[in-house]
Amino acid sequence: MSLQGNWSYPTAIKFGAGRIKELPEACAQAGIKRPLLVTDKGLADLPITRDTLDILDAAGLGQCLFSDVDPNPNEVNLTAGVEAYKAGGHDGVIAFGGGSGLDLGKMVAFMAGQTRPVWDFEDIGDWWTRADADAIAPIVAVPTTAGTGSEVGRASIITNSQTHEKKIIFHPKVLPSVVICDPELTVGMPKFITAGTGLDAFAHCVEAYSSPHYHPMSQGIALEGMKLVIDNLPRAYADGSDIDARANMMSAAAMGATAFQKGLGAIHALSHPIGAMYHTHHGTTNAICMPAVLRLNAPAIKDRFDLAAGYLGIKDGFEGFQSFVQEFNDSLGIPKRISDLGVSDPDIDSLVKGALIDPSCAGNPIELTKDNLTKLFHEVL
Ligand SMILES: [Zn+2]
Repeated sequence: MSLQGNWSYPTAIKFGAGRIKELPEACAQAGIKRPLLVTDKGLADLPITRDTLDILDAAGLGQCLFSDVDPNPNEVNLTAGVEAYKAGGHDGVIAFGGGSGLDLGKMVAFMAGQTRPVWDFEDIGDWWTRADADAIAPIVAVPTTAGTGSEVGRASIITNSQTHEKKIIFHPKVLPSVVICDPELTVGMPKFITAGTGLDAFAHCVEAYSSPHYHPMSQGIALEGMKLVIDNLPRAYADGSDIDARANMMSAAAMGATAFQKGLGAIHALSHPIGAMYHTHHGTTNAICMPAVLRLNAPAIKDRFDLAAGYLGIKDGFEGFQSFVQEFNDSLGIPKRISDLGVSDPDIDSLVKGALIDPSCAGNPIELTKDNLTKLFHEVL
């Protein structure tokens, strides 16, 4: 079976190895004639980025790159990106990369035509209606990792460089109109990033599946997403050039982000402030937090994970799933504690404050409080 497809859910996706070649068609489909490709500093000089710019150039679309994007992109990167977009007379954005490039690229397209500051569009109530929807530029997204799923998301995470808070900026039109999922772009990912990003996709599926809200479509997607990660992440980790494993991980990433419309939970509520304050890798941080969060949520999620375990090929229901998660982390080189990522003397009070205002709290099946969050932070740090 060839792992290829043209999908329309949740947006138009050209899925399959080698399909980056179709980027000019994707731009045409999105109505873009002068694209600005936005990616992060680390990717800017890699062959996958250079080759992609060459594909654009050969099709007469120029080869304009903006790559002044930090690993946790902030409003300074965003302002510079919008300036580059306007100065170059662009009419759309190719958001290219892992979470950083995708999120910042989407925000450049969003903010290019707005007059209010970006923080006015935080994902709170109906704040998104403040935006001039007609001024949002079209977006083509090209993921180069398999984790964030931001290519199929309607939000971006931008870190406030003053307060070190991660803010979710939301608008329905931030959903890219065309996505190219080409697993060949992920072949060069180092093992550490393969594991961390893959486990981010896993955390999205686990948290969506745990969330108490009614959304059976998401529930089904989350379960199959977990299965794809369990079956394919060890293969992609062991052999980075296993293209079928890479393709299935790319699907799992898009599925995780589709599923978490149902809600995220304590894993992300912990990892957002940790990442914002100490710049730890998002997916790796999530993976470290997962065992403690499963213990906290046990009374609320045991029954549904008893069911899931059967499909996932894990013995002994929820207890078996918990042991599996720890062994899975170990087998992928994930450390046991956040302190192993170089965080020393953490400010627990500030972390708890950051977690309590994180929108991910709302999706956790057990109510998150100052007390249980403090306990969780002590456990994971
Ligand atoms: Zn995540």
